[in-house]
Amino acid sequence: MKKLQKEFLILILSALVFSGCSTTPTSESFATYNVNGVSYLSLTNLCNAKGITWDYDIFARVISLSRGTHNVSFMVGDSLILVDGSAQYLSYPVDMYQGMVVVPYGFKDQVIEGVFREYVLPGRSYPMALSLKKIVIDAGHGGEDPGALGRTGLREKDVNLDIAKKLAAILREDGLEVVLTRSTDRFISLPGRISIANNANADLFVSIHSNASRTRSLNGFEVYYVAPSVNDSKRAYSSARSVPISIEHFELASSSMDLKAIIWDMIHVSNQAESVSLARKICRVMDDNSDSRIIGIKGARFAVLKGARMPAVLVETGFVSNREEEKLLRNSIYRQKVAEIIAKGILDFAQVSSTMEVAQR
Ligand SMILES: [Zn+2]
Repeated sequence: MKKLQKEFLILILSALVFSGCSTTPTSESFATYNVNGVSYLSLTNLCNAKGITWDYDIFARVISLSRGTHNVSFMVGDSLILVDGSAQYLSYPVDMYQGMVVVPYGFKDQVIEGVFREYVLPGRSYPMALSLKKIVIDAGHGGEDPGALGRTGLREKDVNLDIAKKLAAILREDGLEVVLTRSTDRFISLPGRISIANNANADLFVSIHSNASRTRSLNGFEVYYVAPSVNDSKRAYSSARSVPISIEHFELASSSMDLKAIIWDMIHVSNQAESVSLARKICRVMDDNSDSRIIGIKGARFAVLKGARMPAVLVETGFVSNREEEKLLRNSIYRQKVAEIIAKGILDFAQVSSTMEVAQR
């Protein structure tokens, strides 16, 4: 990535700062700008006042702020920011105003005072899952897409939906906010599922599936996370069993493909560690509480997980193609047990994350 032309921007910025736009001085004498009814501050003013250096990658349109060991990156037009590798959201998107990069007023507290404050321990990043409040549960397939079919006719989409609803009920009882991508037997595209999670600003995305294989004897429980390099992509795609749709082609239609791809790459790297940790927790609870064979955790590039802006896992609850597991998955009591196991894994994960939070403060 090529970094350059900051001078060019500063030139424009200084020209505008001295050209007398209508501004109101704040208590800290930062001029505020009213952009569509929202108060904005000049990024340059904030950074200059606090000794924060910033770079603007003119091609990728990514702005990076840094001071000491802290780094914050974001893009004009987006409210998503990366703070030391973890995603956060601003209340309003970063914008341009009369040629200046402007940030919503809350940016000062959230980023300038929050991230770049003096007494922060160096080199720590705050995992986003520590604020685990909202989870999106995705029941795989649905409607015209039945998913895998068992030999006695059990449909994966029905198993997924029931486990998802049971899981949602358990998590809600534990005080978490849960959004279901579907609560009925209907079709949702893979991009549609990710959009639901991203628009909800969820802290976690958990997709529920059941597996199938031509090898009837194959059984077991496994959890996938998104891996940037794919060691198992072919299997992953066939297991997702819907046409994989490149995320770039629908979400990026309105903006440059490169810049969001860059941000997403960064987010995926930072979310991956948490996804792996969540996947491990779920498998461990399953191992402790059932006789199922634990296949383990695997990295794969599932289309349904790929565009998620939060840690995301896909749980394969068992093989409907296997006689024994089809029988189990057909049983509502067993599905309840699976839901409880996944819920415990999620809650264990949340607990570890909040312990980390305390340790870091
Ligand atoms: Zn599936």
